[in-house]
Amino acid sequence: MKQLLVLSGKGGTGKTTVSSALIALSKSKAFADCDVDAPNLHLVTAQDIKPQTSDYYGFQKAYIDSEKCIKCGLCEETCRFNAIHDFAVNVSECEGCAVCSEICPVHAIGMKDYSSGKLILYSSNDITFSTAKLKTGSGASGKLVTAVKKQLKDNSENSEFAIIDGSPGIGCPVIASISGVNMVLIVAEPTVSGIHDMKRIIETAKKFGTKCAVCINKYDVNKSKSDETQEYCNSIDIKVLGRIPYDKTVSHAVNNCRSIAEYPKSSAAKAIAEIWAKIKNILFKGEFIMKIATASEGKMVTEHFGHCEGFNIFDTGNGKITGSEFVPNPGHRPGFLPVFLADKGVKVIISGGMGQGAIDIFNEKGIEVIVGASGVAEDAVNNYLLGKLKSTGSVCHEHQHHDECGE
Ligand code: SF4
Ligand code: SF4
Repeated sequence: MKQLLVLSGKGGTGKTTVSSALIALSKSKAFADCDVDAPNLHLVTAQDIKPQTSDYYGFQKAYIDSEKCIKCGLCEETCRFNAIHDFAVNVSECEGCAVCSEICPVHAIGMKDYSSGKLILYSSNDITFSTAKLKTGSGASGKLVTAVKKQLKDNSENSEFAIIDGSPGIGCPVIASISGVNMVLIVAEPTVSGIHDMKRIIETAKKFGTKCAVCINKYDVNKSKSDETQEYCNSIDIKVLGRIPYDKTVSHAVNNCRSIAEYPKSSAAKAIAEIWAKIKNILFKGEFIMKIATASEGKMVTEHFGHCEGFNIFDTGNGKITGSEFVPNPGHRPGFLPVFLADKGVKVIISGGMGQGAIDIFNEKGIEVIVGASGVAEDAVNNYLLGKLKSTGSVCHEHQHHDECGE
């Protein structure tokens, strides 16, 4: 089962908004909330399913048998966590090291399982949703995250894909979350601290050798910091899969316990859908490397897709152009060119204009279409890689270049 883990440097960046939208868009049947300190994915994804809960025993804590205790005070002196007072153990302070039980001269101290929280499983005919709630003050968050992931795996054997909403930060639960996943998507916010937090998660993911990509949430709140985020990611070969605009519909969706994906016309939902398309290519087609074609006259993007001189096909990897070739137009026949480019492994086509018929065939083949572009082809591709080139969506209908744009 392929696993996508969604992380953020801190709470409030929109991690769960992105996770819940990806769950809806991917139609994933298996998902988990590993933010065990403050789980909230269930508010969006599982309102109709009755959960099964079970105690989770993360580790043992000490207890004192008062009938055996001779009140020598040795345990209180020895416990470096100050968990023993007046010959009794404060379980919220006890770290379970068992030193006290070793040194007690009359064997009055034992260790027993301690419930660190609740494991929660939402299971219906077609979905498995694993989560947990850590008991306040319990220190077993990493272990509980591991248990959440195991519970997910054990109950979704037939699922090919799972999405995991991780914990914010880079602590124990995040490290436990990363272990074994195929890809980490970091939801970054365009602020000084957001960039700092993103860098820390990237470093953490790198230590695990896990494929890592970034999306920038509310990018338009601070465009210069968004550009800085993108430039940093490009400089270390981390792909930025998309920029999500600030969108009031997100607040509306959250307040109504809905995924933003349920508002497909919203700008945020559209941006996350584009991100999901790219995640699919990476996870299921192994593409951090991608071919991008421009319909061109020489080095320039042309307005006429169908009758262009040829295609500049750029090899790109992790946000940069790594090579290019010019392929002459083999000749325009209805429906032919999209198939021709798909066979060459092209995943994005950039053109000035294009007919709806060609757009439909590209879309059927999972190829992203950017129309309305102009200027130098290489610049257009670089702008696309920086997330700055957006399709105008304009389609060539009956105009003077009828049949020139791939209708
Ligand atoms: S198990 Fe360790 S932390 Fe807990 S009370 Fe004993 S010495 Fe202190
Ligand atoms: S070391 Fe044992 S006997 Fe001494 S105070 Fe602690 S529990 Fe009691």
